[in-house]
Amino acid sequence: MRFSALTLLRSAFDGQSRYPHQWRKADPRPSYDVIVIGGGGHGLATAYYLAKEYGVTNVAVIEKGWIGGGNTGRNTTIIRSNYLFDESAALYDHALTLWRGLSQELNYNVMFSPRGVLMLAHTVHDVQSIKRHVHANRLNGVDNAWLTRAQVAAFCPGLNMSPEARHPIVGAALQRSGGTARHDAVAWGFARAASARGVDIIENCEVVGIRRRIDGAVAGVETSRGFIGARKIGVVTAGRSSQVMAMADVRLPIESYPLQALVSEPTKPVLDCVVMSNTVHGYVSQSDKGELVIGAGSDAYVSYSQAGSAHVAAEAIGAVCELFPQFARMRMLRNWGGIVDLTPDRSPIIGKTPVPGLYANCGWGTGGFKATPGSGHIFAHTLATGDPHPIAAPFSLDRFLTGRLINEAAAAAVAH
Ligand SMILES: Cc1cc2nc3c(=O)[nH]c(=O)nc-3n(C[C@H](O)[C@H](O)[C@H](O)COP(=O)(O)OP(=O)(O)OC[C@H]3O[C@@H](n4cnc5c(N)ncnc54)[C@H](O)[C@@H]3O)c2cc1C
Repeated sequence: MRFSALTLLRSAFDGQSRYPHQWRKADPRPSYDVIVIGGGGHGLATAYYLAKEYGVTNVAVIEKGWIGGGNTGRNTTIIRSNYLFDESAALYDHALTLWRGLSQELNYNVMFSPRGVLMLAHTVHDVQSIKRHVHANRLNGVDNAWLTRAQVAAFCPGLNMSPEARHPIVGAALQRSGGTARHDAVAWGFARAASARGVDIIENCEVVGIRRRIDGAVAGVETSRGFIGARKIGVVTAGRSSQVMAMADVRLPIESYPLQALVSEPTKPVLDCVVMSNTVHGYVSQSDKGELVIGAGSDAYVSYSQAGSAHVAAEAIGAVCELFPQFARMRMLRNWGGIVDLTPDRSPIIGKTPVPGLYANCGWGTGGFKATPGSGHIFAHTLATGDPHPIAAPFSLDRFLTGRLINEAAAAAVAH
């Protein structure tokens, strides 16, 4: 079924009774050319672009729970590409370019909303660091601009611009082309489009082992539903990446931490952009349902608890109330956590591993949602051709041996 104005109109009159399942619930076949482990946005996008760009359709996405049930469905949906280094600018801007046409590409409304992302400066250090990002971005052709204090007040009228604030706002960087998208719809849209091209999406199937041939290359995966053979395996399991890679004796430089977010009760439109502040340590946007979506920090210690510590969420609320004192009267609806995969340089790992046929796409940490289409697009290239896509090449696993790190620790809205 293709979505169009006509199908929406028809559905309005027939009680929406004709919507079919959006993707096939596939059972595992004995073997595939490519198995993608992990049915988050990155894994599903990888499968979609494998089928679409490279004609590789004998592909399975294997998900231990339900698709989008990992970090894809837990994040705060911020999309931007204002990272510092050339390699990152190319990577995240590639994704931003794909976001712009993604709803049309997938024929599925992912609700991409380029409403503008403000990164606030409160101190001399903030000004210097943020201006450095703005200049670096502009040299790379990435949209980003410096706003004075008065321009910030005009762009986001609800902000507390009082000079008496504990951390007064003195300016900001604005990426007008950044914004948000609907995270579930991204997973569903890629799943639907990949399934339509022949990809098997297998949910409730946990990978518990990676079987290797006598020559060391991958032979397939042991799962809770039996053995499935594969010529190539892409591991796209975010916070669980080091555990899954250990099944093939590959040790990743990744630590997994809980990262939290929370939403308020819904309210009428009060905030039409994304506001981030590293200094007060929080960020906020408003969803189309009207909830304030608040990003908190990560716990200080490694853990696989998807809850996270209570004080981390409380501090995020304090930070947002400092930026918008009027939000202090809002009630919080729910909070949750996800397990994020942090590398030492806070940049992802995309490419080959020492095991022939085994490829990694992980280490996106606290900021991979924004990269979803770009990540899938370039990882599909790597899986199909065996060689890294030029954009992915600097993000190889061996940069931790050569020392060619891409340190983006200062790029996030909250320190981690
Ligand atoms: C609270 C929070 C807020 C965030 N906010 C933002 C933000 O605003 N902007 C942004 O860009 N990024 C954000 N992120 C980060 C972003 O969510 C992730 O980087 C991104 O979603 C990772 O996508 P993925 O597809 O790689 O991982 P996931 O969506 O986590 O998918 C991995 C999948 O692998 C599956 N899996 C794991 N082990 C196995 C196994 N053994 N067998 C089979 N399947 C397995 C999991 O069940 C999971 O579904 C945030 C993350 C969190 C937790």
